[in-house]
Amino acid sequence: MKTRPSDKSPVICEGIGAAPGIVIGPVFPVAPGRLHIPRYEISRTKRADELQRFSAAVAGALEQIALLRQEIAAKAGSVAEEVGDLLDAHSQMLSGSRLVRGIEARIDEGLNAEAAVEDGIAEIAGQYRAITDVYLAGRIDDIQEVGTRLIRNLVQAPMPRYGGVPKGSIIVADEITPSDAALMDPALVGGFATILGGAEGHTAIMARSLGIPAVLGVSGLLKAARRGDLAILDGTEGRIIFRPTDAEIAEYRARHARQVENEQSLARLRELPALTRDGTRISLKANIELPVEVGLADAHGAEGIGLVRTEFMFMNRETLPSEDEQFEALAAIVNAMGGKPVTIRTLDIGGEKFADVFEADYGDDSANPALGLRAIRFSLRHRDLFATQVAAILRVSALGPIRILLPMISNVEEVKVVRRLIEEIRVALVASGRLEERPLPPIGVMIEVPAAALAADALGRVADFFSIGTNDLTMYTLAIDRANDQVATLYDPLHPAVLRLIQFTVNAGAAAGIPVNVCGEMAGDARIVPLLLGLGIEELSMSASALPRVKGRIRSLDSGAAKRCAEAIMSQSDRARISVILADFNEMALG
Ligand code: PEP
Ligand code: MG
Repeated sequence: MKTRPSDKSPVICEGIGAAPGIVIGPVFPVAPGRLHIPRYEISRTKRADELQRFSAAVAGALEQIALLRQEIAAKAGSVAEEVGDLLDAHSQMLSGSRLVRGIEARIDEGLNAEAAVEDGIAEIAGQYRAITDVYLAGRIDDIQEVGTRLIRNLVQAPMPRYGGVPKGSIIVADEITPSDAALMDPALVGGFATILGGAEGHTAIMARSLGIPAVLGVSGLLKAARRGDLAILDGTEGRIIFRPTDAEIAEYRARHARQVENEQSLARLRELPALTRDGTRISLKANIELPVEVGLADAHGAEGIGLVRTEFMFMNRETLPSEDEQFEALAAIVNAMGGKPVTIRTLDIGGEKFADVFEADYGDDSANPALGLRAIRFSLRHRDLFATQVAAILRVSALGPIRILLPMISNVEEVKVVRRLIEEIRVALVASGRLEERPLPPIGVMIEVPAAALAADALGRVADFFSIGTNDLTMYTLAIDRANDQVATLYDPLHPAVLRLIQFTVNAGAAAGIPVNVCGEMAGDARIVPLLLGLGIEELSMSASALPRVKGRIRSLDSGAAKRCAEAIMSQSDRARISVILADFNEMALG
């Protein structure tokens, strides 16, 4: 890379636009030093294993870099070339280099791999620092980035804290987990960019919910970032410009002003119903990850909460929340909605959504946690935890209209068992005088694994409603990890396989006479909404910030035309044609 740390020239880094918006502010890099790096002694008999563990981390890092290299090669221009050079340099550092040999020697002497990496990096960086050569000084960032990658492959990072961040900062980090993002105060954090992560992961969802612009999957990021320098982050285009020129600042200020103007005109739709031009009424609701978003949902005209991701109650804490604590948190949401319906999903922990509070007792170090003890499977295994949550939810049902939603259902039996458990808990609450006699709230299932979609006809007989989770449905159907930047380009909710599963679910819901909504990120994409409506969906739930745009789109739509567009799309097996049909339809209608 031609840019040196002493160089004030602009550097443009490209990544995945994960949460829209433009922010211009000071850079706040979260140093790799924040990683918790364990340090312990390895007995003589275990050293070969430790060396093996280190080799696996190196192999993993080389693989990740090779994939990034491929991805960046597909991008045009000098940025691709510069980042490509940088990644080549990183691979060289990991291939039989002095750095690797130094780390191996430390492990051989009895130091654990993480600490050996830390010391090896520190030694070489120190030597480079002692040489007053701008070129070598520039390589220190590279060495540190390589070290972080290795340590990331060896350990899990602890939760960072963002309280001390200067107002309006752009946080730059190798990775930000969903729990990290939940700690961000939108009044303080202007935006964030990371090396790891994909647009449909929970970090991205959290950023969109909080309205914090974000760019994920940016290679070469830490190299270009210097604390306090000015940067422009464009979460819509997926770009971050460090040390921008005056002309770039002026251009992005103008873009930002246009965006704000656009949002203000959409905000005027708040009081209007989501009616198509020919009078079909669509219900628009908000998803919330954190209680603070209830205000946002209301401000954007949500008709209710279509999805409460209850994971927030378990994040960033060391003890499990009691029934009363959960009741209070949920009651605040239901009360704030003032009689509008609230759909509360039971705990969806596991996979990428692992909260620290579970780590010691329930940690899942299996190779495929997303296919493991996640969501309802976790709840059915840990029934005491589930019973506590259900009791809190049932008590909240006395305060307003709620529905209970079960995540990651894959067969009818799970629903039957859960229904029985919920009824038992209701009876016990009534018997102990903590709940007045009342019917159970509607119990629905998330349709988010292909098995559930394909068994939707049978599930329709045991569920009161369906909520299609297109985020996981896409991930599990296409075998693409939604949070993995390496395969982000293959993540595609418009893949014909995903669309057929949605169609099957909608038809099964109609046959069973139960409501079907979509609550995955697809629901908040105004370009895709005509297709969903055309397939027969009449309720959508999304990040509150997406509501005005989606409502604007619905009000410009004719439902007959949307149906014909959906029919044309469903007869296609060619993914590229699907995009063309949808784009043409949107262009024509918006004309
Ligand atoms: C989904 O999978 O589409 C969904 C809404 O659930 P989550 O994003 O919380 O997994
Ligand atoms: Mg899901």
